[in-house]
Amino acid sequence: EIPPDCPPDVEVLGRSTWTFLHTAAAYFPDKPTPAQRASMISLLRSLPVIYPCGWCAQDFGKDLAQNPPDVSNGKKLSEWLCQRHNQVNKKLGKPLFDCLKVDERWKDGPADGRCD
Ligand code: FAD
Repeated sequence: EIPPDCPPDVEVLGRSTWTFLHTAAAYFPDKPTPAQRASMISLLRSLPVIYPCGWCAQDFGKDLAQNPPDVSNGKKLSEWLCQRHNQVNKKLGKPLFDCLKVDERWKDGPADGRCD
């Protein structure tokens, strides 16, 4: 683990980026406006172009082309993003995340209240 005041490596960058993306998805509206949908699509489609890890960006671009973002509502987007993250988990040999738990992880927190 690199010190927190050092430039990010691929892992720290990845964790930070997933945190942003899953949180943005968790708060994406039930009824997004056309502008909100378009902005989210732009954000996601920009990752293969500018994400500062070349091979990550390239593979994510391929995955995105095969699985276009579902921005019809927040629930669909969170589910879609969970699947994309699981695709990366699979590639890296990490455990797959249970996508039924995305809201608990990124919005509501666990039922025991320890994150409140
Ligand atoms: P992370 O995978 O960063 O996950 C952070 C937290 O998210 C976990 O602790 C868990 O609570 C939660 N979580 C895990 N899976 C899911 C899910 N499916 N849905 C919702 N929440 C979940 N690294 C590489 O080495 N090679 C790559 O090609 C690569 N490509 C990447 C592509 C993108 C678009 C991004 C954003 C990151 C990529 N990374 C890549 C980084 C990699 O995904 C991890 O972020 C990094 O390895 C750190 O892993 P971690 O175990 O800390 O947890």
